[in-house]
Amino acid sequence: MRLFDVYPLFNIEPVKAEGSYLWDKNGIKYLDLYGGHAVISIGHSHPHYVKLLSEQLSKIGFYSNSVKIPLQEELANKLGELSGYNNYQLFLCNSGAEANENAMKLASFHNGRKKIIAFSKSFHGRTSAAVAATDDPAIVAPLNKTDNILILPFNDAAALEEEMKKNDIAAVIIEGIQGVGGVNIPSDEFLRHIKIFCDKYGALMIADEVQSGYGRSGKFFAHQYSGVQPHIITIAKGMGNGFPVAGVLIHPDIQPRHSLLGTTFGGNYLACTAAIAVLDVIKKEDLIQNAWVVGNYMMEQLRKIKAIKAVRGLGLMIGFDLEGPCAEIRKQLLNEHHIFTGASSNKNNIRILPALNLKKEEVDLFINSLNKVLTATLVK
Ligand code: PMP
Repeated sequence: MRLFDVYPLFNIEPVKAEGSYLWDKNGIKYLDLYGGHAVISIGHSHPHYVKLLSEQLSKIGFYSNSVKIPLQEELANKLGELSGYNNYQLFLCNSGAEANENAMKLASFHNGRKKIIAFSKSFHGRTSAAVAATDDPAIVAPLNKTDNILILPFNDAAALEEEMKKNDIAAVIIEGIQGVGGVNIPSDEFLRHIKIFCDKYGALMIADEVQSGYGRSGKFFAHQYSGVQPHIITIAKGMGNGFPVAGVLIHPDIQPRHSLLGTTFGGNYLACTAAIAVLDVIKKEDLIQNAWVVGNYMMEQLRKIKAIKAVRGLGLMIGFDLEGPCAEIRKQLLNEHHIFTGASSNKNNIRILPALNLKKEEVDLFINSLNKVLTATLVK
């Protein structure tokens, strides 16, 4: 059988990883500033993570959600404490798309409405409602096209209120910081307006923190810079440091009932253990603070480079724009300097999504290599 060929691949085969580094099968060492797409939060193969997962696997790996799994409560308590959302409820699932799909579905169940507002350049996943709320027609199948989802301009409160006045919106979904769209930060004022309009017009605010959450921004959630408390928050990527696990944080006023939501794999022993290990390490090693300090340091260094037109970001979720397409620059960083970076839907943009325990020396290494690549490319 052949693999269904949907991913463009680098010609690299990693066989080992530790901290912010990967090694390929030829022994070449790479600096990972991409984190497997913002997934590696506490660093590759962190000893606490490996220990907890290995121990758990030898006890029990899986049983269904028809039995008591106390690890789910331990995870909910630790997540509540670290995120500041102690009074919210947690629904566990397996991926970012699934978390968003359930969040939108829950909003619709809650207020009986069926329209969702999302914003330009959004990315919320590839399942039916999530992909319809994603501003990329190329990945929306005819089946998923729906009039129930409206894509409105980003950071435009007036346009939003105009639509919400019709009193038929179930939810407004927005990324804490847009990732795939090129690291675009919603203004605090816009986020506050979304919450105000949702409360005023009977809708729910959903913050998609799948990429920007889990300490990456220098706060547990990126939306926390605005002081707003969304009704629903979705999490995935950094939550399990590579183990598939995701969640929906749900306001205490939203009532559950049996069978309202469900999933076979969600909240299994291994997923909970991975997520608990991640929270333990984030807390013990003060990684949210590190993301803030090292992220600011990296942005300062990037802003000194003349060829860089704009730098956007919070903590270790950073994007910078060059004058033209940067595919060649990323290729050279990878092949000649052995540094992984991320792309975005904006061809001129490079995304930096490293582990939250990245060190300043590693930033220096990157800046030095980037300067060399940019100089060589601009001189050509
Ligand atoms: N929301 C956001 C903001 C994302 O960046 C992504 C993944 N790029 C998703 C949702 C979908 O997550 P997953 O691939 O785990 O379904």
